Amino acid sequence: MLTRSLIGSDTQLNLHSYYEASVVRPAPRPPLQGEVTADVVVIGGGLAGLSAALEMARRGLSVVLLEADRIGAGASGRNGGQVIVGYASGQELLEQQLGADDARLAWDMSVEAVDLVERRIREHDIDCEWQRGYLYVADSARKARALREEIGNLQRHGVSCEVAEGAGLWRLIDSPRYVMAAYENRSGHLHPLKYTLGLAQAAERAGVRLCEQSPVTALERGAQLVAHSRHGRVHARYGVLAGNCMLPEYGPRVAPEIAARIMPVGTYIVATAPIDPALRQRLIPSNAAVCDNNFVLDYFRFGADSRLLFGGRVSYTTMTPPDLKGTMERRMGRVFPDLKGVPVDYVWGGFVDISMNRAPDFGRLGDNLYYLQGFSGHGMALTGLAGQLVAEAVLGQAGRFDVFARLKHHPFPGGRWLRTPSLALGMAWYRLKDLLG
Ligand SMILES: Cc1cc2nc3c(=O)[nH]c(=O)nc-3n(C[C@H](O)[C@H](O)[C@H](O)COP(=O)(O)OP(=O)(O)OC[C@H]3O[C@@H](n4cnc5c(N)ncnc54)[C@H](O)[C@@H]3O)c2cc1C
Repeated sequence: MLTRSLIGSDTQLNLHSYYEASVVRPAPRPPLQGEVTADVVVIGGGLAGLSAALEMARRGLSVVLLEADRIGAGASGRNGGQVIVGYASGQELLEQQLGADDARLAWDMSVEAVDLVERRIREHDIDCEWQRGYLYVADSARKARALREEIGNLQRHGVSCEVAEGAGLWRLIDSPRYVMAAYENRSGHLHPLKYTLGLAQAAERAGVRLCEQSPVTALERGAQLVAHSRHGRVHARYGVLAGNCMLPEYGPRVAPEIAARIMPVGTYIVATAPIDPALRQRLIPSNAAVCDNNFVLDYFRFGADSRLLFGGRVSYTTMTPPDLKGTMERRMGRVFPDLKGVPVDYVWGGFVDISMNRAPDFGRLGDNLYYLQGFSGHGMALTGLAGQLVAEAVLGQAGRFDVFARLKHHPFPGGRWLRTPSLALGMAWYRLKDLLG
């Protein structure tokens, strides 16, 4: 069982994940010891770091990856498993900042990112319960109008949707909570920890050295980077920062310029006991992953063993909300009254790294240190693409990476200590809008 607290003093988030309970982890990889030289040092063993490491090793570079805890201990091994096309910021922001052509390129890369997940699963034979199918749902007339716009955007970008409303809704989802649903089959879902561990094995087979329990405590910059950990140092020509909400005790020391541009937001998931497969089939006939379009959203799907994995609820303070299990059960009961009384076997959470404008935040510090952050809840697919783009950039093909590097990002107002209360206030307004329909 993982014991490290992800953020601050909140240890509860780590303790009871269905994903950890449903995998057999390999023996721990030894921590970094002594002086090591490589072409690239990657900091962070989540999907972004693993993808970057794998892609660079495949291109012939020697790579050492340093992970503070165990591989997949961060968001990558604990998320909703929804592998989605598009961006949390919406396409409009990309069009405003990048212009029509590059925004279209960015959209196409988000579709490529989903296909890349599928390709890697096949290529590396990763058993992770992958399946296509995604359902967008709206719970009020106002949200249905917003969903129609979203569907219009998907269709303009070549993604077709099947729509159901009112009495016909049961064809897509049997829930009294929603007034409209739209199904598309480009996006999909999987078991995120199985996928992450599979990617780690693929990276190792490609020659990457993975060091667990190896937090980077300082990073010297220059033509040669030096990453310091507890018992060793890595000297490398290139570096990739892929620490997500970089541990608070290290982030500001390792990369203070970018640490304030992301905010850790807690989000939580419960897993029920397995339910009758016939009931599961009636509730979501396509077995798609589902997400509503509220600001504080509910996202859910059935796992391979017919457990409902139901996510939602957010915390802007990094502290686990009180009565989390009860709150989640009530939310789930509003969506599927048929599941009231089904026991909840697991409750866990993790931190999403959101940027101010919810667009991904990729770039360089100097000419040899790359960073990947701000996936804003869309990292399942985008992390894979991000790793590929860094590898292209390191080897001199920076065009696609630079599309993202051109996006403007700002620090959260309030600095290190006040950004959380400022954000909480802002979010309270959006939550009120959700409640008002
Ligand atoms: C509960 C939850 C549900 C989510 N649901 C979805 C979803 O359904 N679909 C989706 O697309 N996205 C979802 N996300 C977001 C998605 O999980 C992330 O965007 C993605 O996993 C980010 O990957 P990453 O590699 O950047 O970060 P992480 O997976 O967090 O990896 C970063 C790693 O860096 C390590 N690290 C940090 N600092 C250091 C340091 N100084 N030295 C060494 N190592 C360090 C950490 O220990 C961690 O293992 C969800 C997130 C959460 C928490």
